[in-house]
Amino acid sequence: MDPYRLPRTVVPNRYDLRLEPDLTTLTFRGVETIAVSIAEPVSEIVFNAVELAVDEAVVTDGRGREQRATVTLDEAAERCRLALAQPLATGEGTLRLVFRGTLNDKLRGFYRSVYKDPSGVSRTMAATQFEATDARRAFPCWDEPAFKAVFSVTLVIDAALTAVSNTRILETKPDGARKILRFADSIKMSTYLVALVVGELEATDAVGVGPTPVKIWCVPGKRRLAAFGQEIAVDSLRFFEEYYGVPYPGDKLDLLAIPDFAAGAMENLGAITFRETALLVDETAASHAELQRVADVVAHENAHMWFGDLVTMSWWNGIWLNEAFATFMEMLAVDAWKPEWQRWTAFGVSRAAAMSVDGLHSTRPIEFPVRAPREADAMFDVLTYEKGASVLRMLEQFLGPTVFRQGVRDYLNAHRFDNADTGDLWAALGRASNQPIPAVMDGWIFAPGYPLVSASVEGAELVLRQQRFNYLPQPLPWYGAAPAAATPAPARWQVPVQLRVSAGGRDTVERVLLTDAEARRPLPASADSVVVNEGGHGFYRVRYDDTLRAKLLARLGSLGAIERFNLVNDAWAVTVAGLMSLPDYLELTARFRDERDKNVWAVLIGSFSTLNRLITPADRPGLEALVRDRATPALAALGWTPRHGEDELARQLRGDLVRALGTLGNDRDVQARAAELYAAHTRGAAVDPNVLPALIAVLAHAGDAGRYDAFLDRFRKAATPQEEQRYLYALTAFPQPPLVEQTLGRTVNGEIRTQDAPFVARTMLMQVHAREIAWAFVKKQWDTMDRLYPKHGLRRMAEGVIGLATPELEADVHRFFQERKIELGGKTLEQYLEQLRVAVALRQREGAALSRALARA
Ligand SMILES: [Zn+2]
Repeated sequence: MDPYRLPRTVVPNRYDLRLEPDLTTLTFRGVETIAVSIAEPVSEIVFNAVELAVDEAVVTDGRGREQRATVTLDEAAERCRLALAQPLATGEGTLRLVFRGTLNDKLRGFYRSVYKDPSGVSRTMAATQFEATDARRAFPCWDEPAFKAVFSVTLVIDAALTAVSNTRILETKPDGARKILRFADSIKMSTYLVALVVGELEATDAVGVGPTPVKIWCVPGKRRLAAFGQEIAVDSLRFFEEYYGVPYPGDKLDLLAIPDFAAGAMENLGAITFRETALLVDETAASHAELQRVADVVAHENAHMWFGDLVTMSWWNGIWLNEAFATFMEMLAVDAWKPEWQRWTAFGVSRAAAMSVDGLHSTRPIEFPVRAPREADAMFDVLTYEKGASVLRMLEQFLGPTVFRQGVRDYLNAHRFDNADTGDLWAALGRASNQPIPAVMDGWIFAPGYPLVSASVEGAELVLRQQRFNYLPQPLPWYGAAPAAATPAPARWQVPVQLRVSAGGRDTVERVLLTDAEARRPLPASADSVVVNEGGHGFYRVRYDDTLRAKLLARLGSLGAIERFNLVNDAWAVTVAGLMSLPDYLELTARFRDERDKNVWAVLIGSFSTLNRLITPADRPGLEALVRDRATPALAALGWTPRHGEDELARQLRGDLVRALGTLGNDRDVQARAAELYAAHTRGAAVDPNVLPALIAVLAHAGDAGRYDAFLDRFRKAATPQEEQRYLYALTAFPQPPLVEQTLGRTVNGEIRTQDAPFVARTMLMQVHAREIAWAFVKKQWDTMDRLYPKHGLRRMAEGVIGLATPELEADVHRFFQERKIELGGKTLEQYLEQLRVAVALRQREGAALSRALARA
């Protein structure tokens, strides 16, 4: 028997759950009656519970016989066993449990969140976060996604407080100083989707989408920041009802901002919880990036109401489909809501992030066998979300959007209120499209990595060849406790290649399913250019031969933004992999001085940031000059202030250029202008919200102790979650060592919330001026951080070691992790160390050539 799965001899159908949280003593009491089906005459019942005391357990069997059970808790296995004197009669029975627990401060299970009210007084609220396996910390349950049941929740709370759960409140009854709230029955759903939030909460008025009222909830004083989130919540809910062709499965939809929240958001059916930055925003004062974040996360969680909540994966190996699909749908919904944002072009940045990790030997397949549920924790990464969404997008484009949607509708209808697997979706898409979906998709889902498609001209033919893309020729030796099983990559993929050939002023688009190592197509002698990965949806890289690349660079204006993005991104990747010289890459970036797309600039600036981490101090002025040379013309053309009628993307780009020039470019003029504008802003002058965050970053980079104190004060008194974040991250950018030390100290002394502290420390590890001090600090404080931070905190923070890109620091990083025998879950640490090796290898291989090129620049 699988030790990680509960026996199915007794299974739950319905939970009548009554919980009584006390925000003063930080404890809760509970009583639940679980209606169960007893399939075999067992004398033991096993389910999940952890950090709970079970005071009483009474079982009624299929013949109505009642008996008291002996309770044993196995904390290590997170299980509760009820031993019975008499075997149970099969049939329908009940289980009545009385239990107690603590409102913890680890942001999981049933936990407390602390915040300051508008008058500055500290307040406490309680919230839940159950995915993947923490419902068992709030109430005893069959805590696996396949044990779906109906939940009927009753909460007993202080009369002055408010509570939200998955469904509408049926009844409120006073009970002395307390009150009793009875909620409606939920649909049949998994335990990880149950939600309970209790505190002094405020809500917006409801907006109706058909019969569904949609409201935003927050702590008092923040309701003015809810309008934008509500707008996308309402719009995306409509969009999904239409797309899925299935009504919203809940009876209301509440979206709640929680001051302490470990993840970004959680798709509890009808009661979605968010960290504040992902839901609350002042639309008039926020940058595009800050608004897009709210829109993305809200749409993503709404997409889950069907995909994840109504139809749920059978086991945690299926989590990728849940998350990949919600990410894909989030793009569709936001793109439909704000077409001017060009969301699919911006998605190029996410796809590129997934390709960075998936180009490692230590990558993993999107889906792989998961035995212990905790193995699923390491699956919440860019491969699950971004690679998963990318391959779904590739499939959607390959099948056509209408056929794809039909397959999704069939899948949801066939499995609603139930569980399903990847194979079920492929089967539905196969029926809708008459295509052999598993054959096309298996290489992308069940094997690690992706192909590099090389394009060259041989005679009158275009030749396409595929091979696996890797940054390093060989895997790193691995010293971890669990030796990495080599996951065999397929020799080749089924690559849906879309080509665009321009010849004599005419464009021809052709679809090729590249299944072999090589394919040849006739190419007209008059061809002016060939774009491989036309439209940019493919999850593969393209390496053009010199002739084809030169032709494309000569016709950049004929390429779509995502195609230019891919051209730069793929060139940078093959450079890092040693297949193109660094001076050649720098040469290529000179062709983009006229570029006006912010996503293309994101790749360019990202590559300069990477170089900044691996050059010697002597080369830094050369790199700064190069950044100024590339970015100054674009900023000069845009100007510092928005122009009347300018498009959305120009507005977004301006701030990115200011930031790059003022920090990486160390441009004194830009720094001086930023100081002037910021001073005007503090006097009340209007500054474009896309530029303001860049000004703050530039001033921190060029700042001193006085500025640091002023920014610290702004962080503490911020009026919006976004403003708080801008000043918080600005604190990481001051170069003076005593200021670096100060900020680091705040990651462990409670001044920075534990939901943010790991990310702040990560940022400091990634920055040249701070990294050595930060690394020494992290080594010293590792155990403290382990104790303080929420579950995934250390894993997120440790990603910063990728920035320690000198041979000496790299060696020290290896020493530390090896000596301390640290594990970060799954292949996380291996991936970080390999990414660090990639950076240091680039430095060792190209350092001299880079020095020469920068001296000439
Ligand atoms: Zn999700």
